[in-house]
Amino acid sequence: MSDCIFCKIANGEIPSTKVYEDDLVLAFNDLEPQAPIHVLIIPKQHITSCDDITPDNSAVIAHIFEVAALLGKQFGLTNGYRIVNNCGEDGGQTVKHLHFHFMGGRQFGWPAG
Ligand code: AMP
Ligand code: ZN
Repeated sequence: MSDCIFCKIANGEIPSTKVYEDDLVLAFNDLEPQAPIHVLIIPKQHITSCDDITPDNSAVIAHIFEVAALLGKQFGLTNGYRIVNNCGEDGGQTVKHLHFHFMGGRQFGWPAG
């Protein structure tokens, strides 16, 4: 998608601080971190939101969670971390390219606001 900022980050048009990359996914630091570690994990392929996951594109979601487990070890988060997806307007999604917030380094409350 030509006007999607996360597609532009995925193809290098917009810079980011990468913490993990392979052929399918990219993980980079969030610009406005809400925790000591706040990384966004995205599929390189444009998927608008969680609501657009289908049998044709869902393999990358499993891979994203493999990457999350890798990041947990990479950052030494032995006491846990939080993974968040905001889906659509009511979910609070502001960037319309599927992403998972990987956050750690502090204790989180529940339920989330
Ligand atoms: P969401 O509200 O779930 O759609 O989250 C979008 C996230 O993207 C927010 O946490 C923003 O801080 C983050 N964000 C927006 N633009 C950038 C950017 N250029 N680089 C890194 N993070 C960004
Ligand atoms: Zn996109």
